Amino acid sequence: MLIERGAVMTIFEAYNNTKKRLAAAGIEDSVFEAKAIIRHITGLSNTEILTSYMNELTEFQENNLTAIMRQREIRYPLQYIIGTWGFYKYKFKVGVGVLIPRSDTEVLVEAASEFLKDKENPQILDLCAGSGCIGISLAKDYPDSAVVMVEKFDEAIRYIDQNVKLNEAYNTLLIKGDALEGDGKENKYDLIVSNPPYIPESEISLMNAETKFEPETALLSEGDGLKFYREIAHIYKASLKDGGMLAFEVGYKQADSVCEILNQNGYKDVKAVKDYNGINRVVCAIK
Ligand code: GLN
Repeated sequence: MLIERGAVMTIFEAYNNTKKRLAAAGIEDSVFEAKAIIRHITGLSNTEILTSYMNELTEFQENNLTAIMRQREIRYPLQYIIGTWGFYKYKFKVGVGVLIPRSDTEVLVEAASEFLKDKENPQILDLCAGSGCIGISLAKDYPDSAVVMVEKFDEAIRYIDQNVKLNEAYNTLLIKGDALEGDGKENKYDLIVSNPPYIPESEISLMNAETKFEPETALLSEGDGLKFYREIAHIYKASLKDGGMLAFEVGYKQADSVCEILNQNGYKDVKAVKDYNGINRVVCAIK
């Protein structure tokens, strides 16, 4: 039996093999990903893997590894394979039909959370909420807040529902609606945040292979990519309290244009905040 199963791999061999195949498929962070995949198929933590690296994979684990590698080699996103992903201080369910939370967006949450520090019972609006990662993170940071999330697409809404439950963020309210139609504008908010679709048509070719598995509706914005900024800045200004903040995530070349849009709409203290790569990633302003 043991001889017949000569191809059986130890965890150590599986890790090395996975790392090599990922690198050969052009995946940059093959060490990080190989560890994540081995954790996922074995259910072990990093420390447990270190102490049991000579253990053999079961047939079941090996089959799952084979299936995962076939998906990953065509650049199907790791986050969709794993099914949950860490963002900011919390975890979120992700899968087909929803934009994967990105570390760039943590900069937006940090700026927003900082602004809310001395507010009591803050009223918050998250437009184009996607997985809910922004709205739910703020709801968790501030349990006395009330967060309204507006999302248009049912595929994403399913994940928001799951993520509200996963994080027990019951100080949130979900509205199925459209930011371009002003849904959710009836209230008055201390903070309005949005990571809208902003990739202009001219940059579709620059998107990485994994992004092609994510919903276009969360990524692409017709023409120059600035439509949502123009509309939201205009439509929702009346929904911000005086002294309230509007904060956007923006594309890597869009900060100046978005600052200009906010200035034209009469907002004050317009400023850009850099992400971890030194790119202006967030634009915020006060009413
Ligand atoms: N930051 C994402 C990307 O570059 C885009 C997210 C968005 O359009 N809001 O893939």
